[in-house]
Amino acid sequence: MRDLSLNVTILGSGTSTGVPVIGCRCPVCTSSDPHNQRTRCSILVSAGGKNILIDTATDLRQQALREGITQIDAVLYTHTHADHVHGIDDLRSFNLASGEAIPIFGSGEAVEAIRRVFGYIFDDGQEAGYRPRLETRVLEGPLQLFGLPIEPLPLLHGPGRALGYRIGPLAYLTDCSAIPDATEARLQGLDVLIIDGLRFKPHASHFNIPQAIEAARRIGAPRTLLTHLSHDVDPGRHAHLLPSGVEFAYDGQRLSLDLGTKG
Ligand SMILES: [Zn+2]
Ligand SMILES: [Zn+2]
Ligand SMILES: [Zn+2]
Repeated sequence: MRDLSLNVTILGSGTSTGVPVIGCRCPVCTSSDPHNQRTRCSILVSAGGKNILIDTATDLRQQALREGITQIDAVLYTHTHADHVHGIDDLRSFNLASGEAIPIFGSGEAVEAIRRVFGYIFDDGQEAGYRPRLETRVLEGPLQLFGLPIEPLPLLHGPGRALGYRIGPLAYLTDCSAIPDATEARLQGLDVLIIDGLRFKPHASHFNIPQAIEAARRIGAPRTLLTHLSHDVDPGRHAHLLPSGVEFAYDGQRLSLDLGTKG
């Protein structure tokens, strides 16, 4: 018998520009509080010696060096906005370390977009050492990955779509402006919910903080982390505005969730 835990690292908790924003002199962008340093949005999920990366954020190299990540066994994509994909070339270093190709998973739409935008990766005419070795897999529904149950969950993201992921007691719902009923029905019994909470003001493609809090209340996880945070958010000044059980995620934050006991 062994107890299994799901270890989660918040690699990036920032919106598409990152925080500080280039050229911005606002109080958050000039703050010395490390919680106001946000790289682009991504998490690492680890269990049983395997590392699953959700999105290859623009800052992947910096995130991997900061957190000492030396192995990536699979990537799950939420959608293909630049901030969630543009670190894809940094997967090369993990290929070189392991000697293995990395499977990358996404919706049919996402896989098609990645193959088109990053054509050099999938072009066999290119010299092998200069492109990541990736194997694309289209998600058709829930799957088991390294013994973990992975459930892709459709979300609305402004005029587009994104996938959230449930992995046992964890749900990661970045980049969403609405949660379809069928997805919400799959979010019962979580321990931790990580959800888009961009800023206080409304936004066409992202939950703002009041909307994220309302969604979190309906979902009812005991602990909720708001992510994809803009430079309008200063945890030092704003944490007291959140209800109990809801907090701002920050880069480098680590969580350990119980997966139960396996015999
Ligand atoms: Zn985003
Ligand atoms: Zn700013
Ligand atoms: Zn997006």
